Amino acid sequence: MSRMSDVTFPSLVVHKDRLEAQGSFAEAQAEYLDPDPRTVEELEALVRAKNAGIVAHYYMAPELQGVLARLRWPHVHISDSLLMADKAVAMVDGSPAVPGAERIVVLGVDFMSENARAMLDKGGHAQTPVYRVAADPIGCSLAEAAESPRYLAYLDRASRTPRALHVVYINTSLRTKAEAHARVPTITVTSSNVVQTVLSAFAEIPDVEVFFGPDTYMGRNLAKLFRTLTTLGDEAVRAVHPSHDVASIERLLPRFHFFDEGHCIVHHMFGAEVADRVRTHYGHAFVTAHLEVPGEMFELALAARGEGRGVVGSTSDILTFITKKIGEAAARPEPATLSFVLGTETGMVTSIVGAVQASLRKTGRDDVACEIVFPVASEAIARTNEPNLLVVPGVAGGEGCSVEGGCATCPYMKMNSLDALFELLRALPDASTTPREEPEHLAIFHPKAYTERVAGRTIADLGGEPILHMRGFSKTGHIPPTLRDDVMTRVA
Ligand code: SF4
Repeated sequence: MSRMSDVTFPSLVVHKDRLEAQGSFAEAQAEYLDPDPRTVEELEALVRAKNAGIVAHYYMAPELQGVLARLRWPHVHISDSLLMADKAVAMVDGSPAVPGAERIVVLGVDFMSENARAMLDKGGHAQTPVYRVAADPIGCSLAEAAESPRYLAYLDRASRTPRALHVVYINTSLRTKAEAHARVPTITVTSSNVVQTVLSAFAEIPDVEVFFGPDTYMGRNLAKLFRTLTTLGDEAVRAVHPSHDVASIERLLPRFHFFDEGHCIVHHMFGAEVADRVRTHYGHAFVTAHLEVPGEMFELALAARGEGRGVVGSTSDILTFITKKIGEAAARPEPATLSFVLGTETGMVTSIVGAVQASLRKTGRDDVACEIVFPVASEAIARTNEPNLLVVPGVAGGEGCSVEGGCATCPYMKMNSLDALFELLRALPDASTTPREEPEHLAIFHPKAYTERVAGRTIADLGGEPILHMRGFSKTGHIPPTLRDDVMTRVA
C-alpha cells in the first residue's frame, strides 16, 4: 500500500481538441466538458422561449458549465462575482442588435442573486424578476461569518476608530453590507480588485485605517503580500500600485486590520499538507493560488510568482496567467506540456479548458498541452481498490466530490444543479407574458427580500451603496469622493 505522501493529485491534460484525464475525478470533469448535444439543444430552446438571461459563477459544477458554454444564446455569462451583477443589468438593457432579457436566473450563492437584484433595482429594472434555482437558502460560510455577533463587534471597534474604512468582501449578504455601512463607511471588493482598492484607499485618504473582512485567509494574505512588497524595492512596489513606494507600504502596515474568524470552507482545504505535497511532487509546475487560500499554499504560490512560476489573485487572474503561459509556450517551436496546480475551486476548470483550447486552436499546435492538477487535502480523499487509482477526491466510496463538501468544490455552489435549472425554466412563463404576471409560487426562488430598515433606509438601498462605491472605483481607479468624504468626516 502506498503512503499518502507518495500519491500524486488527479489531473486533466488539455490538448487542442481532446482531454486526457488522470484519476476518476478528472475523468468526470472531462466527460462533463463534452455534454450531450440533446441536453444543450433542450436548454437552448427553453432559455429562448422564456427569454431568460443566465449569469453564473465560475464555481458552478462542470456538468452545468459544460452545457452553458455550448449555448448560442447571447444572454449567458460565466465569470467571477465582480461582473455577474453588471452583466445581469446589461442583459436586461439589451442593445440595438440584441433585445433585452425579460428575467434573470442567477447561478451562484445567495449574495450573488441579492447583488444582481440590488443592481437591477438601482439600474431602473425593479420589475425584472431575478431567480435562484433552489428553494432553500444557498449559503456561504464567509457570508455566515459576517452575520455573527463577533463581526458586529469588529465593526463596532472600527466605528470607534477615527478615519475608519470598512473594506468588505463581496461574499456577504445585503443585510451585512447595510448594517456595516450604517456603522462604518464601507466599500465592497472582490478578489479581483481588493489589492488595488486597499492600496488606493491608503494612497488617497490621509491616515485612513482599513478594516477588512470577513475572510481571514484573504486578510492575512494581503498583510503578507504588503510585507513582502517592502522587501522588493520601490520599482516593484510601483508596478503593483503607482502611488506607493516601500516607505508608504511600511507606513500602512499597522493601519491594515483584518477579521480573524471568517473562513471559506472550500479554500480552507488547501492547508499545510497540500502545500507540502505540491512542493514534493510539483517542483516543475506553475502554482496558482486564490487570495482566499490558507497561508502555506499562498506563500508557496507567492514564492513561485517571484520566480515567474506562479500567480496569486482572483479567479480571473488565475485564468489570465494560465492562458498567457500557454500562449507563450505555443509561440516557441518545441513541444511542451505545462503543468498548473489549481489553487482554487475546481469549477474553474471549465473556463480554463475553454480558454486554453481556443488559444491552442488559433495556433494549430497539437504538441503543446496544459496539465491542470487538482490538489486536494487527504482528509477529503477516499481510498479505492483500483491498483492504478489509489485515492480520489471526495467522500468514501470513490464517487468524487459530494454535495456535503468532500473536496475542493463548494457545496453551496453545487446546489445549483443542471436539473434544478431545467425545472425552474420549465416553470417560468413564456416570453410573451409580462413580468408582473410571473406565477406567485415561484416567489420562493426570488432573492431574499428584506423588509426591515437600517438607519432609516431599506436594506436594498443602504446595502447597495457599498457595491456602487466598488463600481465607481472600477470605472475611475479612484476611491469615490463621497466615500472618501464620509471617511474623513464621520465622527468616531
Ligand atoms: S467557495 Fe463557497 S463557501 Fe467559499 S466563499 Fe465561495 S461561496 Fe462561500
